[in-house]
Amino acid sequence: MDNAYSVIIAGGGMVGASMALALAQQGFDVQIVDDSPLPTLSDSHVEMRVSAINRATQNFWRRLGVWQDIVTLGLSPYQVMTVWRKSHQQIHFHAKDIGQPDLGCIVENDVIRQALISHLDKHERVRWHNERIEQVSSIGPNGVAVRTASQQLNAALIIAADGANSSIRTQLNIPLSMHDYGHHALVATFQAKAHLDTAWQRFLSDGPLALLPLRDNRCSMVWSLPPEASKNIMALSPERRCEVVAQHMDFRVGELVQLTDTYQFPLTMRQSRQYVGDGWALVGDAAHTIHPLAGQGVNMGIMDVVALTHVLTEIKLRGRAIEHKQALHPYQRWRRSENRIMAKAMAFFKDGFSHPVPFIPEVLGRGMGLLDSIRPVKNKVIKQAMGLAGNIPASCRQLGLGG
Ligand SMILES: Cc1cc2nc3c(=O)[nH]c(=O)nc-3n(C[C@H](O)[C@H](O)[C@H](O)COP(=O)(O)OP(=O)(O)OC[C@H]3O[C@@H](n4cnc5c(N)ncnc54)[C@H](O)[C@@H]3O)c2cc1C
Repeated sequence: MDNAYSVIIAGGGMVGASMALALAQQGFDVQIVDDSPLPTLSDSHVEMRVSAINRATQNFWRRLGVWQDIVTLGLSPYQVMTVWRKSHQQIHFHAKDIGQPDLGCIVENDVIRQALISHLDKHERVRWHNERIEQVSSIGPNGVAVRTASQQLNAALIIAADGANSSIRTQLNIPLSMHDYGHHALVATFQAKAHLDTAWQRFLSDGPLALLPLRDNRCSMVWSLPPEASKNIMALSPERRCEVVAQHMDFRVGELVQLTDTYQFPLTMRQSRQYVGDGWALVGDAAHTIHPLAGQGVNMGIMDVVALTHVLTEIKLRGRAIEHKQALHPYQRWRRSENRIMAKAMAFFKDGFSHPVPFIPEVLGRGMGLLDSIRPVKNKVIKQAMGLAGNIPASCRQLGLGG
C-alpha cells in the first residue's frame, strides 16, 4: 500500500461511482473497479431502468457538482404522487402543499452513471479499471490486496459497492439476513396518453403496480407480483398486456402502448449483519436490498455514501488509520439501524396490502383514505419519502429548489 488514505471501490454502479467521487473530493486516492459496459445514451433511445430520486440524494449530488449534468442529460420531475387501492381509498401528495416545485425526479440509471463517470474521468485522484475483481488476496488491519484478471491492486481499505449479489461480501464470509419477498418485479416502459407529471401507485391484491412519469408522456412500470402471476403477465401479447395494465390503473393515464420488452427481477430482502470490518466496508445493495415499492433502494445507498464519507473524513482529519474496524464502526451504527427501519416499513406495506385475510388490506386502504384529509400527517409522510427525515446531515436535509 503506498498511501494510508487509499481506497479500492468494488463496483461502479450509481452507489460505487458516487462513493468514489465523494472520497476523491475529500482528498482520498481512489481506485474504482467495475466490470460493466460504460453507459451509452442517444436522443432516440427509450428509458428502461429508472429510479425515483429523492430530495436528499439530489442535494448530495448537487454538492458533488453532478446534479446539473443529470438535469442537462434529462430527468422527469413529478409534482404529485397518487397512491390508491380502490377509488375511495386513495391519498394524493402535492408538491405545492409543502411549497416545493416537485416531490422528486425519475431519472434513468444510465444518465446518473454517465454524469458520475464523466466527473470521475476528470478527477486526478481517481483511477477507473474496467474489469472484474476476481479475488480478495489479503485483507486486515494492514490493508487490502485484490486480484483482477490483469493486475493486483493494493489499498488501505476496500469498499464493496458490487451490488445485491456482492462477491466481495461472499468472499469475506459476512453474515447476511435474507428473506424472499415472494414477488417478482416486472419492468417495462409504456407510452401513455397523459401521465400528468404524477407518480401513480396502486396496491392490488397481488402486489403494488406503479407507473412513474418520464418525458413525452412515457411511463416506467414496476409491477410486483407472485412468480406465477408475473409469468402469466409475461406470457401476454404486448397489446393485451397494455390493456391489463391500463385497466388495473383504472385508466388514470389513459390507454397504453408498450415501448420496450418486459424484464423480470426476483425480489429479496437482504441485510448484511455487519457493514464494516478490518480493511472493509459495504455500501448500497451490497449491504442491503429492499422491496422497490417506495423507490428507496438507491436513495438508501446514497445515504450510506454520505455517512461513510463523513466518518472516513473525520478519521483522516484526526490522522488515524481508516482500515481499523473500530474507527469505521460509527458508520455501521449510523446506517444499519436506518436501513433496517426502512426494510421493516417496506415489509409492512407489502405484506399488509396483499394479506390473504381481506379485512387487513381493507383497513389499510381505509386508513390511507382517512389520512388524505389530515394535512400535517401527510406532510410528515411526504418529507419521509423525500428522504428529509431520519438521521441525515443538514446539507442533505434542505428542501432545496428542486430539479
Ligand atoms: C425493479 C426495481 C426498481 C427499483 N426502483 C428504484 C427507485 O425507483 N428508486 C430507488 O432509489 N431505488 C430503486 N431500486 C433499487 C436500485 O436499483 C438499487 O438499489 C441500485 O441500483 C443499487 O445500486 P448499487 O450501485 O449499490 O449496485 P448495482 O447497481 O448493482 O451496481 C453494482 C456494480 O458493481 C459491478 N460489479 C459487481 N461485481 C463486481 C466485481 N467482482 N468486480 C467489479 N465490478 C463488479 C456491477 O457490474 C455493477 O456495475 C429498484 C430496484 C428494482 C429491482
